[in-house]
Amino acid sequence: MAARTLPCLLGLAGTVLAAPGTPSRGPKPAWSYEVAAGPGGRELGVEAQIEGGVTELTVDDGLGPFVQQAEVERNGGWIAAERRGDRLSVPSCAAGPCRVRYRFLLEQAVTEVHDRNRAFAQGGALLAPPSSWLARPLVEAPGRYRIRVSTPPGTSFVSGVFPGPEAGTYEAETSDLAEAPYSGFGPFDESRVPAEEGSVEVAVAPGDLGVSRAAIDEWARRAAAAVGGYYGRFPLRRALVIVLPSNRGRVGFGTTLGNGGGSIMIWVGRGATSAQLASDWVLTHEMIHLGIPNLPRTHRWLEEGIATYVEPLARARAGTLPAEEVWAGLVKGLPNGLPEAGDRGLDRTHTWGRTYWGGALFCFLADLEIRERTRNRRSLDDALRGILAAGGDIAVSWPLDRLLREGDRATGVPVLATLHARMGAKAEDVDLDALWRRLGVRAAGEEVSFDDKAPLAAIRRSMTAREREP
Ligand SMILES: [Zn+2]
Repeated sequence: MAARTLPCLLGLAGTVLAAPGTPSRGPKPAWSYEVAAGPGGRELGVEAQIEGGVTELTVDDGLGPFVQQAEVERNGGWIAAERRGDRLSVPSCAAGPCRVRYRFLLEQAVTEVHDRNRAFAQGGALLAPPSSWLARPLVEAPGRYRIRVSTPPGTSFVSGVFPGPEAGTYEAETSDLAEAPYSGFGPFDESRVPAEEGSVEVAVAPGDLGVSRAAIDEWARRAAAAVGGYYGRFPLRRALVIVLPSNRGRVGFGTTLGNGGGSIMIWVGRGATSAQLASDWVLTHEMIHLGIPNLPRTHRWLEEGIATYVEPLARARAGTLPAEEVWAGLVKGLPNGLPEAGDRGLDRTHTWGRTYWGGALFCFLADLEIRERTRNRRSLDDALRGILAAGGDIAVSWPLDRLLREGDRATGVPVLATLHARMGAKAEDVDLDALWRRLGVRAAGEEVSFDDKAPLAAIRRSMTAREREP
């Protein structure tokens, strides 16, 4: 009990310090939005305050038709703002700060657009990131945007955008708004699952699940613990997981979106059992993405490669996946990542195999080389922890060079940069069978056994060991 009381006391102390006499909490945002949702979030009333210097606002592609009754303030009154496609013309915003208001027909948007990255419905929930329903200047301004959302009883708003300084607000950089985290309106069943130095908000959309609500939280807790164990802490101070019940059998597709926060959407079939949740890998994979900065599209192989490679290791270390299964998975999966005829390197060959398993192969080779060169004192873990410690998580975007530099700095050996120089722009073949022999991994069909006399057996053991070696 004592351990649980302490954080509450710290929280209270913080509140007292920031209370009366503190006129503003943080700098004034460049763009601020008041959003009043109607019942179910089917219609949103939006009022925006925008720093001046702009003449046009936009919503995401194809969502303009759902912006209705748009008006812009002029000389103390409101006049209609002309809409062309997805853009609103607001000439009176050119001179200085201005206000714009409109209604957004979210229910109609989800019906007509039906796209998981822009707007769709699931049960009674309407899912759409703020980029779909907040009109933003076409010209990016430095600074932050803030959203304050009010909802009627029975409807809640959930969002992966980081919470703002005041209750009911969300805040991030203006440059994040064009691709803001997943969000939704509806009768969500919400809970909060603690994680290492962070927490996971779990919002379950309406629908049939074959497991209890407690089993869903336990699934999220276990995935967060495995990921927190690998990274040394949960990657974000707060992330949102939206669980979408589906008609299919088990845990289905998952997708992660950051930029000013962190959010995951994951589909769970009504046939999914507690045992399937316990052995699920999808949520762990998605949560690993939370600890990697967004990279340019040409380097998506590294985002997916890290998630693919680290996921089984993280679960093995958490004690939820036997080491034999980790190695059986690598023996089976990694050949998919080898270059085929005509391959032009990882940065230029965007096939499924090269993206997921080619990226995992890069991570596997990097992990082995870091361990060999540092006598197993450093590993890919340290590189990824170093990237995270330098601020590289899904909430931000980095160029590849920065990620490689921070990773190499953390291990003290320039393995990531060197490996990328070799594998980024040209195909490099890898003798996997030779690696299995050196590691002492013997495969027979789907089964593997280990040879502890192999030269790299100690490295193999420490990769999946429950406790990190000092
Ligand atoms: Zn992924």
